[in-house]
Amino acid sequence: MDQAIKNMMDLYGVTPETERFLLSEQRMFVNGEFIEAGDKDTIDVVEPSTASHLTSVPSGTTDDVDRAVESARIALREGDWVKMKPAARERLLFKLADAIEKNAQTLGEIETIDNGKAIGPCIEMDILGGAELLRYMAGFATKLDGATRQVSIPGDHMAWTFREPVGVVGAIVPWNWPFNMAMWKMAAALAVGCTMVIKPAQQTSLSMLFFAKLCKEVGLPPGVINVVTGRGSTIGDYLANHTGIDKVSFTGSTPVGRTVGEAAGRALSPVTLELGGKSPMIAFDDADPKAVAAATRWSVYFNAGQVCSAGSRLYAHSSVYDHVIEELAKVTGAMKIAPGLDPDCDMGPVISESAKRSILAYIDKGKAEGAELIFGGNALDRPGYFIEPTLFAASDNDMTIVQEEIFGPVLVVLKFDSDEEALRLANDNIYGLAGSIWTQDISRALRYSAQLEAGTVWINNHDIVDSNMPCGGFKQSGFGKDMGPEQLNYFTRTKAVWATL
Ligand code: NAD
Repeated sequence: MDQAIKNMMDLYGVTPETERFLLSEQRMFVNGEFIEAGDKDTIDVVEPSTASHLTSVPSGTTDDVDRAVESARIALREGDWVKMKPAARERLLFKLADAIEKNAQTLGEIETIDNGKAIGPCIEMDILGGAELLRYMAGFATKLDGATRQVSIPGDHMAWTFREPVGVVGAIVPWNWPFNMAMWKMAAALAVGCTMVIKPAQQTSLSMLFFAKLCKEVGLPPGVINVVTGRGSTIGDYLANHTGIDKVSFTGSTPVGRTVGEAAGRALSPVTLELGGKSPMIAFDDADPKAVAAATRWSVYFNAGQVCSAGSRLYAHSSVYDHVIEELAKVTGAMKIAPGLDPDCDMGPVISESAKRSILAYIDKGKAEGAELIFGGNALDRPGYFIEPTLFAASDNDMTIVQEEIFGPVLVVLKFDSDEEALRLANDNIYGLAGSIWTQDISRALRYSAQLEAGTVWINNHDIVDSNMPCGGFKQSGFGKDMGPEQLNYFTRTKAVWATL
């Protein structure tokens, strides 16, 4: 670990557990043991607010994936996990949620240092939110049911269905919510009795490795959870193609999602794809500009804009347009941009040098295509990958910065004059992850929430989630749902049983 990170940890303070963990050698978690990569190769991990070396994680090999899949298959067939009654499984998952809660400060610090995100929301949403989701899903362990069916064929029969775990789940998760996105998959999969191989993003594996220690401490049987660290192009691809995997659950970008979907298709594994987005916010003429600006600040600039459902295209009616921009400048100007560990941090750095370069290239493209830069637009002159909150005004819906996912703190605002025009512009995009509608007119809100092509629509809000509400996109944002009772269908399969009497 470089001195710059030690200085930062001294300045803001971290738990002794965080320090011990970050200074220790990192290992993957396979079959209940912490191991090196088969060929002992590692990947360097860079801390984004200092751009300095944090640690290294094993660069898993395809053999390591095979071992992890094999141990997950064994845990599914024999041993304590498969013998465990649903109520015992539920209790064990509650215990795991308690362990997460007890270690929330440490997990939050590890996540913040690894990813750069602001510590307050990280503990509250990523970590404690993950524990809550685990509790929510754990409750379903005892409530999975099937149906008895009337059948009309000749003879004397009884027939019924029941749901069983789909099997071994291969979960591939991104770096923007490393712990939380893994929990979005794990909570439901474990509740129904699946076993798992999880591949975190190579930039941010640390919270999953700490979590693996908690799994071991609470007594999750070996093989139920395996965490294999490494590169997407090698082990991620191998996992998606693996015939020992019964279900692939992927969250990440649309281009990678497409290759994962193709691989799962070849292996004939069912697949859930939670992909990219370019979510519109529509502020109608009766929208409250202050509320729109507050939600936008939260949605687009929070997590440095690295939010799949960020409301990164704002369509404002011409009568509220100036007022919305004024409010946006006010709330954004008051934001503190700082290392995520700073307790007052509103926005930290972006994840990496390459992400920073890609976001700045989009900003250049916006200018070159004629969008008006209203504020921001620069990298900060300090170590690390900091970019100013940026606002563009655009007049053309076809501009690159309006159409493509930038995945950084860049908002583009466009003016409209009629409701129909707003809906047409909002739907004119390849993505369909989420969107929001801002109006006091309930009829208008309901009409346009039905017509917006998005997996989630918020009315007078943006980017709120709850364990009991499903998340998942339409169009090029993928298919399948995480969270909510709907998710159980993706980790179970229905068996039909006939008895001839
Ligand atoms: P990414 O697609 O680059 O990587 C995601 C994961 O896939 C990582 O673990 C990576 O190592 C792995 N991977 C890379 N290449 C692979 C391959 N060929 N085969 C298998 N796995 C491979 O995405 P990212 O940059 O980590 O995350 C940002 C993207 O994730 C954004 O597009 C964002 O919108 C999306 N995202 C979507 C949701 C959602 O719920 N829809 C949530 C969070 C993030």
